[in-house]
Amino acid sequence: MITAAFAKEGKYRGRFAPSPTGPLHFGSLVAAVGSFLEARTHGGEWLVRIEDLDPPRIAPGTEDLILRTLEACGMGWNGAVAHQSARRDAYHGALHRLREKGLVYPCACSRREIADSAVAGVDGPVYPGTCRAGLPPAKIARALRLDTRGARVAFDDALQGHIAHDLEKDFGDFVLLRADDVYAYQLAVVVDDAEQGITDVVRGADLLGSTPRQIYLQQRLGLPRPRYAHLPVAVNAAGEKLSKQTLAAPFDAKKPLPALIAALSFLGQQPPRELSRGTVGELWNWAIGNWRLDRVPRAASLPAPAYT
Ligand code: GLU
Repeated sequence: MITAAFAKEGKYRGRFAPSPTGPLHFGSLVAAVGSFLEARTHGGEWLVRIEDLDPPRIAPGTEDLILRTLEACGMGWNGAVAHQSARRDAYHGALHRLREKGLVYPCACSRREIADSAVAGVDGPVYPGTCRAGLPPAKIARALRLDTRGARVAFDDALQGHIAHDLEKDFGDFVLLRADDVYAYQLAVVVDDAEQGITDVVRGADLLGSTPRQIYLQQRLGLPRPRYAHLPVAVNAAGEKLSKQTLAAPFDAKKPLPALIAALSFLGQQPPRELSRGTVGELWNWAIGNWRLDRVPRAASLPAPAYT
């Protein structure tokens, strides 16, 4: 992996970090387009990282499909594609550093127990800290959690504004290593963004609730904080985020222009009609010359457009 030296030079480095759980659909294309254009218009690099950390959720063949789709869309990335599945040692090292600081504790609660005792938070149930003072007798540790007592995080998102959270109250002590021995997304992303020297995270606003947890982990691990811009998320008529579960149609990689033009419009840019009769290269020439982050709607979600 590339080291953080790049970030120290003050050069922009962004990334697109898909989970290979299904083919790219309009929702993930929006995150790819937004992060790509921010990187390219800053003369920066754009990295692709495959977040294949969670074996049961990986759909075989989708990584290749995602990469071929990005290529068909004319979105070339810098350097080699990174894989979270190859990074367990780095996550282990970070977890160890947090343990040494006394911030990690084993938790024996089952899903059922948590569901019964948790209250609703900003981004799912808030674990009430049951095992913080030690495991109940005869209980076996299942997961490792981060102690969030006293953790207050505030940041300014380029699109979603000022965000401030009390982590214990809003999210609770979150999992770092799951019962099935899988490192949690929050930990992996923080370790990878730092090691890859990511200066700017541009991604969907469905992850806005993850950012305070990630910033807190950066603070505790002594890692630099990237800038953040959370793009509106494309939702269907029922207001649900487009995903494999909501049956978002993967787009036709042989005919990428309509989806790319729709993604630019969705992001508040005004692509001229003629682009639909041109080439992918012409589309990016226009988009890189005209992209403006300040035209992106400052909304957490927007209806997905119809396009063909
Ligand atoms: N892998 C995450 C996803 O596909 C994105 C992670 C990120 O951009 O931080 O939703």
